[in-house]
Amino acid sequence: MHFDLLIKNGDVIDGTGEARFRADVGVCGDRIEAVGDLSDSTAKAVIDATSKVVSPGFIDSHTHDDAYLLSHPDVLPKICQGVTTVIGGNCGISLAPLRSHAIPQPLDLLGLPSAFCFDTFAQYLDAVDENPAAVNLAALVGHSTLRVRHMKDLSRPANADEIAKMAADVEEALQAGAIGVSSGTFYPPAAAASTRELIEVFEPIRRNGGVFATHLRDETVDIIPSLEEAFEIGRAVRANVVLSHHKVAGKDNHGRSVETLKIIHKQSKLQPLCLDCHPYPATSTMLRADRIRQSSRVMLAWSTPHPELAGKDFADILPLYDGSVDAAIEDLKPAGAIYFVMDEADVQRIFSYERTMVGSDGLPNDTAPHPRLWGTFPRVLGHYSRELKLFPLEMAVRKMTGLTAEQFGLMGRGHIATGKYADLVIFDAERVLDRATFAAPTLRPEGIEHVIVNGVPVFQLGEFTGARPGRALRRRTADAI
Ligand SMILES: [Zn+2]
Repeated sequence: MHFDLLIKNGDVIDGTGEARFRADVGVCGDRIEAVGDLSDSTAKAVIDATSKVVSPGFIDSHTHDDAYLLSHPDVLPKICQGVTTVIGGNCGISLAPLRSHAIPQPLDLLGLPSAFCFDTFAQYLDAVDENPAAVNLAALVGHSTLRVRHMKDLSRPANADEIAKMAADVEEALQAGAIGVSSGTFYPPAAAASTRELIEVFEPIRRNGGVFATHLRDETVDIIPSLEEAFEIGRAVRANVVLSHHKVAGKDNHGRSVETLKIIHKQSKLQPLCLDCHPYPATSTMLRADRIRQSSRVMLAWSTPHPELAGKDFADILPLYDGSVDAAIEDLKPAGAIYFVMDEADVQRIFSYERTMVGSDGLPNDTAPHPRLWGTFPRVLGHYSRELKLFPLEMAVRKMTGLTAEQFGLMGRGHIATGKYADLVIFDAERVLDRATFAAPTLRPEGIEHVIVNGVPVFQLGEFTGARPGRALRRRTADAI
């Protein structure tokens, strides 16, 4: 046989969770054409993967890259980790559909107001195809974005007219190829939304299909009622529930992942659901007083009026405001921060759970970002799997490939098998490791050697190749998924 690309003699971890096996992988065009002993074959290009792992490209199940991949199509923080597909539109905040000059927090986590320039979801997905990135994008439509679009007063539940307009936008987005919806009632633009509002806005999911990804209303003392609300919404619209960045935040709640995982597992027998997590005990989002109170340490990630303070500990900034948290927030905002609110034991327990996927939740526009932006995937492979032996490498790979593809309905990806899309990573299992830290958050990881998207190398020898073969993956167009 003759291939466009032949990856020889690697240890294939295929994304199913099954044990690795020695094989060659032959690629023609954008697909995997053969897996097995291909030593009699020829190819235009050959990669020798001897003593390396060949795995499906990693799928980042939780990103805020919606605008970043248009402004930075190399998507370097992701390709250097082996990520080949990102899921955008999480936490209720999607870039589309919204055209606005004034965007409230946390929508600004996605980028500048000028980035919000799409009247429809179809326009956004077309823009991704017309200005392709190095990675694929599959996107959710966000409830907070729709509230900002259709409501003047965000401090109350939506009325019938506003719900009808938001539901029409959800219908348009799903028809255009959105893979589902997301909510973020934790955040001010959507905090006043009732459960009923969410169910009615997401009603088109019942007919069109798609997932419901949610940043829960509360991840602290009220974590259980918040989980139950998510389950109720998922059941009402018949959607697979994705519990975003599952955590139990605040010192008083440390250890409660025992309780939440028990509830989640029991519920998973009754309705489809899954969760994602990032491998750090700190989270990051807009600067807000409640999160500061819950945290043992806070670092400023960015501030529009005070960019010079990015990267500093909040405890060192506070004396500038005579110790007043409220005065500091008022002067620094809009701003974002990193919060040490979780317990490492909870993070590891959540990660070990069979339905937990890897999602970075990285914020690519931050001045001093959380290291998860550059380190998440190699950290799971190198630190959690190889060093801590939390789970076998095959399971670590599954949590970032096959499991994620199955949960989001990306059926052509996430596995190494004949006929699947050729999204592939070749890495050194002995060396792969994150290097980004809270003090130096943009250090590239080690051990990721080749990254291939739709059959085209995008990262090799530690550098972006310049190729941008990424696509907008549309749920309703099976061959593009
Ligand atoms: Zn979130």
